[in-house]
Amino acid sequence: MLTQKLDQVESRIAAAAARAGRKRSDIQLIAVTKKFPASAIREAYALGLRDFGENYVQEFDAKRGELADCPGARYHFIGHLQSNKSKKAAEIFDVIHTVDSCKLARRLNDELGLPDIRLGRPAGMDVLIEVKLSTEPAKAGAAPEDVPALVDAIRACPHLRLLGLMTMPPWSDDAELSRPYFARLRELARQNGLQHLSMGMSHDFEVAIEEGATMVRVGTALFGPRKKAA
Ligand SMILES: *Cc1c(COP(=O)(O)O)cnc(C)c1O
Repeated sequence: MLTQKLDQVESRIAAAAARAGRKRSDIQLIAVTKKFPASAIREAYALGLRDFGENYVQEFDAKRGELADCPGARYHFIGHLQSNKSKKAAEIFDVIHTVDSCKLARRLNDELGLPDIRLGRPAGMDVLIEVKLSTEPAKAGAAPEDVPALVDAIRACPHLRLLGLMTMPPWSDDAELSRPYFARLRELARQNGLQHLSMGMSHDFEVAIEEGATMVRVGTALFGPRKKAA
């Protein structure tokens, strides 16, 4: 049941925030609904959740029609953004967490400048820079040394508002192994004068909160395991 799972996640967030001497209201819970139907978003919305994370542009575009009566919901794109999908992403999402190159930032900015692209929605787009802090070859994200230039490039884009940084540590059963990555992201954000830290998933969000996360992205702990890709 989603109600119970949400209660459990909320008490884990509260306990981690208390340990770190932080306020619950400084941490946004983003419910990650990839591979779940629109009904999962609607159920979570009915329980008061307003921030939803999705990884695939086409998948979310297909669900959107069933979400017209969820005012105030904010949709966060947290997957890898291919440049041929950026225009659609600019149309349908409120926040993009995975900007990782100047080229992608400029492309999004140009698309957001097109007339009518965000009809009836706030102009401009909130974005975060995805930073690759591990040496795993497959992970997306900007190299830490490229972050200052990317920050400058995004700040020069009139249609983008830079909120902060996002990262995904290498997956491990042991949440403590994520801690140095989260601490590193916090330091990078501080150096660049950025407020938000999107970090922490179902298995390590408490550690992320202890290290300063302002947005945690939680799927499995709320909705259960996802089906494996066919
Ligand atoms: C799927 C996903 C999540 C949620 O992961 P869970 O382990 O299910 O909580 C968070 N962030 C990103 C970038 C994801 O792709």
